[in-house]
Amino acid sequence: MLAHPVADFISHSAALCDAVLRLRGSALADELGRIACAVTNSATGHYIAADSEASVPEPEPELVQLRQDIVFDQQHFGCFIVGRRTPYSEAERQHLASLAALGASVLQVHSLALRSSHAYVQVEAQLQHQSQILDQIHESVLTMDLNGFITSWNKGAERLFGYSSVEAVGRNILFLYDDEDMSFHDAFLEHGGRLMEVRRKKKNGDIFWASLSLSQLSDVSERSIGLIAYLTDITERKQAEERIHHLAYYDALTGLPNRSLLTKLVDQALHVAQRSKLHGCLLFIDLNRFKLINDTLGRAVGDELLCEVARRFRAVLRDQDLVARLGGDEFAVGLFDIGQHFEASTVATKLLDALHEPFIIDGHDLRVGGSIGISVYPQDGSDAETLLRLADIAMYRAKQGGVDDGDHITFYSQDMNQGMQERMRIESGLRHALGNGQLMLHYQPKFSIASGKIIGAEALVRWAHPERGLIPPAEFIPLAEATGLVVPLGEWVLETACAQAQAWKEAGLPPVRLAVNVSAREFTAGLPGRVLDTLTRYGLEPSWLELEITESTLMNNIDRVIGIMDRITALGVTLSLDDFGTGYSSLSYLKRFPIDTLKIDRSFTTGIPDDANDCAIASTIISIAQQLKHKVIAEGVETLEQLAFLKSSGCDEVQGFLFSRPLPAAEFEAALRVNWTPGSDERAA
Ligand code: C2E
Ligand code: MG
Ligand code: MG
Repeated sequence: MLAHPVADFISHSAALCDAVLRLRGSALADELGRIACAVTNSATGHYIAADSEASVPEPEPELVQLRQDIVFDQQHFGCFIVGRRTPYSEAERQHLASLAALGASVLQVHSLALRSSHAYVQVEAQLQHQSQILDQIHESVLTMDLNGFITSWNKGAERLFGYSSVEAVGRNILFLYDDEDMSFHDAFLEHGGRLMEVRRKKKNGDIFWASLSLSQLSDVSERSIGLIAYLTDITERKQAEERIHHLAYYDALTGLPNRSLLTKLVDQALHVAQRSKLHGCLLFIDLNRFKLINDTLGRAVGDELLCEVARRFRAVLRDQDLVARLGGDEFAVGLFDIGQHFEASTVATKLLDALHEPFIIDGHDLRVGGSIGISVYPQDGSDAETLLRLADIAMYRAKQGGVDDGDHITFYSQDMNQGMQERMRIESGLRHALGNGQLMLHYQPKFSIASGKIIGAEALVRWAHPERGLIPPAEFIPLAEATGLVVPLGEWVLETACAQAQAWKEAGLPPVRLAVNVSAREFTAGLPGRVLDTLTRYGLEPSWLELEITESTLMNNIDRVIGIMDRITALGVTLSLDDFGTGYSSLSYLKRFPIDTLKIDRSFTTGIPDDANDCAIASTIISIAQQLKHKVIAEGVETLEQLAFLKSSGCDEVQGFLFSRPLPAAEFEAALRVNWTPGSDERAA
């Protein structure tokens, strides 16, 4: 039974759609060939796909062949070829063309569907791949939307925070923050794309440090839809950094900030003070007598003492006040928002009071005081370095002003700075002078009152400054004492005086005693050996040399000093006690010192004969010397009246401008030669 042609065509079309959807390769080709055959009532029918290897069949001579290309939107999907013995009608051609048009569009849609389903499978595989990678890497990676709600959470994040992805995804990132009040937008979005170090909280409540790097999460059209966060635990590194920071900025002994941190903190505080128009000040504190304790009782006691001092300082200060240890026995305190200067001195007094209570350490009852220098912001300076330097200068002044190591507080003032600059200039100049032959010795003769002859000379150092001319020792000896430069200077003086004595000895002059001044700092256990060595090197008898020591030398450890003195006098070198009467030597001690001569200080000679006190002192010194069987010499004798008084009081020797000023070596030598010329005896007396 023949079906209706339209219904026929519809069923062929449905068969075509069905074949395209279900069949592939030759099965599809066979089925499409069959349908083409049926639609055109042909004997043979083929479908040749565009990409198929199959070739177009050879035309059979007795058959009429009809070919129809299958094209959609310029895309070629192959062709139908049908054949039979009779020619094709227009309607049959039309049927084949319609079938080809339908086939082309179905094939096109199907190939698109195939392609996209293939792409989908690929994307799915890729996603799976990526999430595997994310889970494998050690770092924790999470994503969140623009409001901070977590959208993904890898295995690394699970390990780091302790929350599973089920627990974390969907919650706001803020639940991981250590700092409650930090808002998501401040902390994150402003730093987008940047690397930062943050504190985060684990599920078990532990706080840790993480390095956090953020990058934008965008959709296909490049619109930002959230953030990707990469986090790594850096707690260990942070702790190491903190330890290093502590070492770099805190004093290991007392735990107080050190100089570097103080400088930083003071500069910060000054910055604030500047904006708020506040005042500030720095206190520079140096302990008194600390060195002595440290040297005699040992470092362990010294260290414990410093720790206790640090504790006491901290206890009397307010929390916002800074206290630092600068090194050794030096501390600094920074005070800000002070109203008036006297507030600074109130605090300074509190600090000194804190030192008053004795320190009981290792069974020792120790007492230390302090000297405090204060510099004020903004009046004296506006940065930490300057304020610290000026407070140091003021402290130095306080120390000088302190009576008998007593406590002192001094504010910095401009003229101190000038004094300090001058001091530094002289110090470096003197160092230079020592190495560059700018120092020389003058010799001031000493006379016997009885014979009127020169019996010796005092070697006095002079500094021939290239610009300032001859500088007297009063201007640089105290500084040399303070800085320790007096030690190399003293060595130079002894050496030069002995070299001069040797020259005079070789020139045939009779021996005279050359007196060399020795400062307290030179008076060490090494001195006797150095003296012997120098005498030996110059081939001098010890009778050529005398050492003048001052009373201050005797104020150190008496037994030690006497030991050194004994070793010197054992060499045959004599000792005289210079500036006698100005110090505090107790008469009971005086007996024990192996001293040859007492030297009456010039300040007493000056008052003779008008000042009754000076006269009394001079004659008392003379009688003490006589009782102790010491010789006595008066220095600074300028007038005949003074000489007459001294002579009548029983003084042995004199030295002073009345007879001679200190002379250059050549002039002294000339005087010495005249001195020994017979008949010159009456000259001096
Ligand atoms: P001194 O040891 O008491 O020296 C005596 C000082 O009095 C010398 O001052 C001398 O020039 C001065 N003089 C002597 N006779 C008179 C006088 O009749 N009238 C006046 N107005 N002065 C007189 P100079 O040379 O300036 O030395 C001052 C001090 O410097 C010395 O006092 C001594 O303490 C110290 N000095 C000098 N040379 C040295 C040295 O080589 N080493 C050490 N350590 N100190 C030295
Ligand atoms: Mg002297
Ligand atoms: Mg003197």
